[in-house]
Amino acid sequence: MEELRIPGPTPCPPEILQAMARQMIDHRGSEFVKTMNRMTEKLKQVFMTKNDLLTLTGSGTGGMEAMVVNFLSPGDRVLVVSIGSFGDRFNGIAKAFGADVVSMNVEWGKAADPDAIRKALQADAKIKAVLVTHNETSTGVTNDLAAISKVVKGMEKLLVVDAISSMSSIKCPVDEWNLDVVASGSQKGWMVPPGLVFVSVSPEAWKAHASAKMPRVYWDFTQAKKYLERGQTPWTPAVSIVFAMDIALDIILKEGLDNVFARHARAAKAAREGVKSLGLTLFGDETHASNTVTAVNAPQGLEVRGLRKILREEHHVVLAGGQGKIEESIFRIGHLGWVSEADIKTVITALKAALPKAGFAAKD
Ligand SMILES: *Cc1c(COP(=O)(O)O)cnc(C)c1O
Repeated sequence: MEELRIPGPTPCPPEILQAMARQMIDHRGSEFVKTMNRMTEKLKQVFMTKNDLLTLTGSGTGGMEAMVVNFLSPGDRVLVVSIGSFGDRFNGIAKAFGADVVSMNVEWGKAADPDAIRKALQADAKIKAVLVTHNETSTGVTNDLAAISKVVKGMEKLLVVDAISSMSSIKCPVDEWNLDVVASGSQKGWMVPPGLVFVSVSPEAWKAHASAKMPRVYWDFTQAKKYLERGQTPWTPAVSIVFAMDIALDIILKEGLDNVFARHARAAKAAREGVKSLGLTLFGDETHASNTVTAVNAPQGLEVRGLRKILREEHHVVLAGGQGKIEESIFRIGHLGWVSEADIKTVITALKAALPKAGFAAKD
């Protein structure tokens, strides 16, 4: 079997794949309603929230678009905090729908500074909302969302969070941290194929939704909420992925959230220590290193594409390259979802063998 160690889609345990081999059911029938309600209740436990939890069919980016168009009007001033390519995507979506975007573009590899966010908000009273990435998958950096939330909610702005590659793997307690709108996607830490996005919505966010005028049809949360109340979705959902999520959530909750987070922390530590033991260096600020993805600098002479090809063809290990402006200069190890410390040690062993062939002499 291939060791798929990219930050999504992630490998799925066999019982989750089997759940998807089921025959289709009526998405307006009582069995679907029961399954959907059960899934939603379990999702709320992982999001650690009492807020409404909507399930949308789409990829993570669809969830990001939904978070923009449901809470803003064209011309609304928003602060978009970007620390990498997914933050830039959030910025681009907000601009595309006519938001008046104030961009805070942090140097890639660094986390956002909550004080800088405070200053930006103090400097411009018109800012209504702050859009931020919890875990920046392109750079392997996790923002201090608790501290950011203290600043943003302290100033009574709406806080909209892309937690797509953190929720279920890295602690992100929605209610404790007072997060208004938070999205995650099924193909990341949930151990489920791509297809569903989950978005929690606070009462304050619902108030903003009532007057938000950006155009929306497929992503309209008025419709999503109306149908959620009867255990359905407005449009035909990815039914098989709902079956898969039902099982995945049982697995996650049975292991226990704290244990799941601790397992991710161990896998991440094994990744960081492993690459360093080979003489490689980490991309980005290690004090904010992500527990779901590790970004590694490609040293002089190492060709990332070649390294990934050798790993894939000779070791059946699949790693990710970089994204955007760091596409060729880093590679990334995904360690989220169905992953253990031992899986990461396998990756490091393969890297040790592959590096010299790709132009870099590994240390002993
Ligand atoms: C994966 C990911 C997304 C969404 O990507 P899709 O390919 O649209 O699913 C968004 N934000 C972050 C931080 C991600 O890791």
